[in-house]
Amino acid sequence: MTNTRAVTNIIEPKLVIEGAGVLLRRSIAPSRANLFDPFLLFDHFAFNDPIEGPIQGFPMHPHRGIETVTYMLEGSVRHRDSLGNSGSIGAGDVQWMTSGRGILHEEMPRRGPSGNIYGFQLWVNLPADLKMSAPRYQEVTAENIPTVQRGDARIRVVAGGVDGVAGPVTEIAAQPVYMDVQLAPGARFEQPIPEGHTAIAYVFEGAGDFGMDEHGAGAPVEAVKMAVFGDGDQLRVQASPDAGVRFMLMAGAPFREPVMPYGPFVMNTWEEIQQTLEDLRRGVFAQA
Ligand code: FE
Repeated sequence: MTNTRAVTNIIEPKLVIEGAGVLLRRSIAPSRANLFDPFLLFDHFAFNDPIEGPIQGFPMHPHRGIETVTYMLEGSVRHRDSLGNSGSIGAGDVQWMTSGRGILHEEMPRRGPSGNIYGFQLWVNLPADLKMSAPRYQEVTAENIPTVQRGDARIRVVAGGVDGVAGPVTEIAAQPVYMDVQLAPGARFEQPIPEGHTAIAYVFEGAGDFGMDEHGAGAPVEAVKMAVFGDGDQLRVQASPDAGVRFMLMAGAPFREPVMPYGPFVMNTWEEIQQTLEDLRRGVFAQA
């Protein structure tokens, strides 16, 4: 007997300016209410219009206590950090960065051959006992992200599993599911998600019915919006018969700990934020 997850909330992303003037669609922002535990932030960046002016980016900035996940669909992000790593996150690639106790990095988007920059950044929380762990990267290029073709559904699996195919990103405290799901017009998609885990879909192309019950009744959700699911162990989506649908599916185990966000840091207490700012002032942040 399955217990299907219904849509409990549909979020309209807000346009915000971040970094050195980057225009983003933000659906989730870090907050003490921590409503999407273990997820803290979800940003969608898309610069397609030359009238938006020169491409800005995210000059050197710190992170502590979180994981930042960058998934690019068009264009790239040049990346450089305080540990001496540098590289480019290209179209179809994922960078899963576990900041742990501290990293300083620069993220500079570049237009692809189409002239577009299109991608997502997700922030995943770390539990208290891992917030001061050593920083870690999992960088996966497009060809190493498995694609599962299930009928008229095409699923790129970054983390979690589909039909026995596991995503390449592993050993993440939040036990995440992170996948790019594309459904042809009218196609159906079903995915088991453990009870008690948070589940969200970010719909960025087309439209569909989300959170359908056994009678096929669901909530219509169209791009660009985020659907939040209630509890259950199974999740169902059916693409609209004329448009099809594409969405990022995210799920993870909540930590149920207090969170104290402050800019690019998310700790558990205000004292830990003060310590973070003190470490930055003393220049020991990335070695703390
Ligand atoms: Fe960053």
